[in-house]
Amino acid sequence: MNAAQPLPGTDGDKDLLWQRELREQFPIVEAHPELAYLDSAATSQKPRAVLDAVQTYLTTSNANAGRGTYPWANRTTELVESTRERVKEFLRDPRPDRSGVHFTGGTTEGLRTVARDWLVPYLDDGDEILVPYADHRANLDPWLEARRLLAERGIGVRVRALPYQAASGDYDHRALGEAVGPRTRFVAATHVHHVYGGDMNVHRIREAVGPDVPICLDAAQSVGHLPVRLDDPSLDVDFVVFSGHKAMALPGSGAIWARNARGPEFRPGGWQGTPNTVGIVSLRAALDWLDAAGPERIARWTAALTTRLTDRLRHLGPYEILGCQAGLAAGSTLPESQRRQGIVTFRHRDIPSDDLGFILFSHGFMVRADSLCQAGADERAGSVRVSLHVYNTVEEIDRLLTVLASLT
Ligand code: PMP
Repeated sequence: MNAAQPLPGTDGDKDLLWQRELREQFPIVEAHPELAYLDSAATSQKPRAVLDAVQTYLTTSNANAGRGTYPWANRTTELVESTRERVKEFLRDPRPDRSGVHFTGGTTEGLRTVARDWLVPYLDDGDEILVPYADHRANLDPWLEARRLLAERGIGVRVRALPYQAASGDYDHRALGEAVGPRTRFVAATHVHHVYGGDMNVHRIREAVGPDVPICLDAAQSVGHLPVRLDDPSLDVDFVVFSGHKAMALPGSGAIWARNARGPEFRPGGWQGTPNTVGIVSLRAALDWLDAAGPERIARWTAALTTRLTDRLRHLGPYEILGCQAGLAAGSTLPESQRRQGIVTFRHRDIPSDDLGFILFSHGFMVRADSLCQAGADERAGSVRVSLHVYNTVEEIDRLLTVLASLT
């Protein structure tokens, strides 16, 4: 297929043109046509609008926030405060008057903050929490640390593992019913798995735990990649934690959105110090950019590319795709429980993954090739992850497939 042919699962020529226009807005991508950046699950590239917003801020009103009464300081404070509201708006928060947004350096810091400042004071002796043991380490370590901090105070909390279905990489929603008990007080879950690329069907967790248990969602791989809509009743969660840098903003940016409806109000403790004003400015510009581009359309594009890659790769003998075996663009008749977002992780039968990563880079493909920070992963096993964003093209996928096919 060449570039002029529409990609199945998309809105044909319209989406091709739309994508081309968006891709042109990424200076680093445009400057390197010989390279293909396929590591957006690690961090996204940045559109010009975000770079410009940062430059404008630093050259017109850089000052500290919440301190000083002169115009630059006031403007900075206003930018920080209004970005909190912008995050709520981006997430289609139906009750912005009740929720709160706290800025962080990313998902890792965000989840740790929820664990230390909210979960620890909330739990009592004998309570149970359910956490993911095969997702990103950032979504396991903080909960284990919370248990340790509580144990030091004589409060015993049981940490149970969210059960998995090995074949699809989804949680095992049937087994989940058995893991939930009368003392289950909290669940930490992931929205989109950073290795398997699947939507983890959080609504089934809500069904299993009932209406009163708070759920904290690691949305590192969903915010910026697909619509994350809190006005959708199937996304009934209490915390949404994400990284700005995976969603077009600068590294070191991110946020915690807290609903403040179940359990105590989330009030991050202690003196907060100077916020990352530049990161917050970039986050605001990134959210504006993403809303204008359309998260549904972005998701449709990356899912269509992912389908193309997965559907061909699984017919190439030496490759094993991790997680579900189907690509599943929007409109697929296969069950929603298997829907794969813009991430495909695989291994070659004979070529170690780090070697495969080097080979792919020698052909201009930048992929991730290691244990992917997965909790419990065997460091030696490794795998290669291709993760996509809206700037990726059909030609990049086809070129990649040609190289992968030549390595059989
Ligand atoms: N959770 C998931 C699902 C992730 O994919 C990542 C980053 N790969 C993180 C958490 C950690 O994000 P950060 O490094 O931005 O803190």
